[in-house]
Amino acid sequence: MKAIVYDAPRQFKYRDVPEPQIEADEVLVRIDACGLCGTDLHIHEGEFAPRFPLIPGHEFTGEIVTLGGAVNGLKERQRVVGNSNESCGKCFYCMRGDFLLCLNLRAYGVTQDGGFAQYLRIKADRIFPIGHLSPREAVMVEPTACAVHGMEVLAMKPGSDVLLFGAGPTGQVLAQLLKLNGAGRLVVAAPAGPAARPPARRPFRRAPRGRFWQVSHTYVPRPAATIFTTVVPHREHGCPARR
Ligand SMILES: [Zn+2]
Ligand SMILES: [Zn+2]
Repeated sequence: MKAIVYDAPRQFKYRDVPEPQIEADEVLVRIDACGLCGTDLHIHEGEFAPRFPLIPGHEFTGEIVTLGGAVNGLKERQRVVGNSNESCGKCFYCMRGDFLLCLNLRAYGVTQDGGFAQYLRIKADRIFPIGHLSPREAVMVEPTACAVHGMEVLAMKPGSDVLLFGAGPTGQVLAQLLKLNGAGRLVVAAPAGPAARPPARRPFRRAPRGRFWQVSHTYVPRPAATIFTTVVPHREHGCPARR
């Protein structure tokens, strides 16, 4: 099968690799689409403890083509997404429910092969059927799950003023969740995208009257601009962090 394979940080090739063989508790998924996120940029640099050689990609969606002998509750040709994290269930953190802090955490697309390939083998208990979601919608499930988890951790009080750094896909989803869950003033701060107008001399400047930041929507990448203007009334660009 074709895959993108990293042999070392910054060294990747699109090349032929053997098709993965599944174990009894795994399924083989034919990949329809795979998202790219900031984590992948870290992995490109060798950060986040990747194990090489590695097929990256943790935001995948596709169709089950083969089921392992011990797999129940899933069907061939079912369209699915996956939870890319695999915790051990036995360590101190797993025992208290903090699975992402697992001492033996493994992750598809980070420590084991992920979705930038024609096929992916994955444990059946990581798989969720998606019904009729399109591939473009389905690749947003993982970033959206991260944003929903962020909302839970944040436990934001309604009416809170929020400064959100980053307007990538996850940041844009989080911006919508924040506003839908009662954020007061929401400011999204992000670097200029390639389509943005040339920035003023400095991306951030001191806001008048003791306010901390003033962020112009000039610095939000164009795809985010729509959401930005939807969720942030124009007169509310200042974050009153130092009132
Ligand atoms: Zn991601
Ligand atoms: Zn664990």
